[in-house]
Amino acid sequence: MSELMEMLTRRGFFWQSFEIYGGMAGFVDYGPLGNALRRKIENIWRKHFVVRERAVEIDTPTVCVEEVFVASGHVSCFTDVAIECESCGRVFRADHYIKDVLGIEIEPNIETVKEIIETYDLKCSCGGKFKEPFLFNLMFSTTIGPGKGKKGYLRPETAQGIFIDFRRLLEYFRHKLPFGVAQIGRAYRNEISPRQGVIRLREFNQAELEYFVNPREKRHPNFARYANVVVKLLDKNDVLHEVTLKEAVEKGIVCHELMAYFIGKTREFLLEVGIDEAKLRFRQHKDDERAHYAIDCWDAEVLTAYGWIEIVGIADRTDYDLKKHMEHSGEDLRVFVQFEKPIKVKRKKVIPNMKKLGPVYRQKAKEIAKKLEEIEVDGDVESITIDLDGEKIEITKDFFEIVEVEEEIHGEKIVPHVIEPSFGLDRITYAVLEHSFDKDVVEGEERRVLRLKRWVAPIPVAVLPLLSREPFTSKAKEIVQMLRENGFYTEYDDSGSIGRRYRRFDEIGTPFCITIDHQTFEDETVTIRDRDTTKQVRVKISELPKVLNELLTSDKDITEFGEIFKE
Ligand code: AMP
Repeated sequence: MSELMEMLTRRGFFWQSFEIYGGMAGFVDYGPLGNALRRKIENIWRKHFVVRERAVEIDTPTVCVEEVFVASGHVSCFTDVAIECESCGRVFRADHYIKDVLGIEIEPNIETVKEIIETYDLKCSCGGKFKEPFLFNLMFSTTIGPGKGKKGYLRPETAQGIFIDFRRLLEYFRHKLPFGVAQIGRAYRNEISPRQGVIRLREFNQAELEYFVNPREKRHPNFARYANVVVKLLDKNDVLHEVTLKEAVEKGIVCHELMAYFIGKTREFLLEVGIDEAKLRFRQHKDDERAHYAIDCWDAEVLTAYGWIEIVGIADRTDYDLKKHMEHSGEDLRVFVQFEKPIKVKRKKVIPNMKKLGPVYRQKAKEIAKKLEEIEVDGDVESITIDLDGEKIEITKDFFEIVEVEEEIHGEKIVPHVIEPSFGLDRITYAVLEHSFDKDVVEGEERRVLRLKRWVAPIPVAVLPLLSREPFTSKAKEIVQMLRENGFYTEYDDSGSIGRRYRRFDEIGTPFCITIDHQTFEDETVTIRDRDTTKQVRVKISELPKVLNELLTSDKDITEFGEIFKE
């Protein structure tokens, strides 16, 4: 890993943030290559989770007013248990420290941590004793506006911005379920002691899809696309199943077809961006690990030098979030869903007696009658209290009658459930790099090669004059310009021997190097070299854009595109 990390820093994938001021754990700068790679992964995510779904993407603020996270439960519950050393003052995330030092996995709550500290006489690495464990809220808080201002938080997930826009989104989708809403952007968590590079960050990038459905219809019209795909599923009892997604639903391993659909889709996306299938599995959350609002949750995990790490979480969040925001905001976030056939129901209806209400309540009578008609009752009541613009009025039973009526109902109002695939783009970017990092021997020399998928390579094309002098350099620069005009991000390099230059581009995963040689001046052709096979073919300069376009969007062998120049 250290070799990979050294390369990623040296070549401009990731840099330590605030480096010249000593750095700060939990933050990372994306250099030119890392940034390009993450953006490409992001765009492929968009293709799968927005373009190919009945879905849209929105963009909401990263700073949110306090009410949002009071409603969502983050203010009270988004905490980790921390332990602080009495002597050196260092603070650790309790469950991580206990796992590192004692090798024990615990359910992190204050009581368990206290018990472990006592039972094992757990000390800080400096030898000091720990103070009482405490709950630490992971949200960064801030003040909006001057003076006392208004309390706000940096969002710890992008999802809440979607839930609070639900009414508008529902209108946008013409009140029809199901639909998906995506958001890609920064999320902030004040992690207690992040040490694992880009795996645990305090500011990171999420891509989330909230897929709203009728709770009775947790299916997807395109499930057939993944039904026969075999996946590795590690269930909550630690049993590993290698089954098709269809079987997984039939056997009850996965809770419903829609969850299985998103597992299949997540796998498809991860493989397309370059995750190694042999190092990918889906792990179900255990009952005591799952968020209290979720009925089922599966993480996509990948094997890396850090062990198995979660890169995606797919949860059935039920109607929890919408209900909470309904409760706290007073907005009606329900959706009217039509029944296939209307049904007849009997219900008790309040019929106001206008003859009696009029003389007693005068100009308020009409409004009172309207309110009474809206009220649902179970049986006979002595009185009904109504709210008339804040004024509570008790109406006794001699002002109304309760009758049983049969009504035809065409549908009902429901709170949709939401299935959420949530992706950590930083972890995915890192895992793609680690899974692509390889070494082999070319012409008797060891080379480092990043076998990135062609479509995510930060620098897809490099143009190299065979010799670093005229007329090779001018011709090469002319081709660079032509390729740039055609939309290819292209680098030019004329320093050092051609072999060294090829190695430099192999190391950062550039799939194709174009070389201008003596023959170029005879017949207007160049060579294209394939990073993985190191084979070269000759292609006409005028055909380069077309050939590169085909090569960069497929796995095709370069020998399909020109005469072999070098095996
Ligand atoms: P969660 O909401 O905790 O399920 O997180 C969703 C996804 O965000 C995870 O699968 C991770 O890929 C990513 N993620 C969560 N926390 C962090 C973090 N501190 N640093 C980087 N990525 C994170």
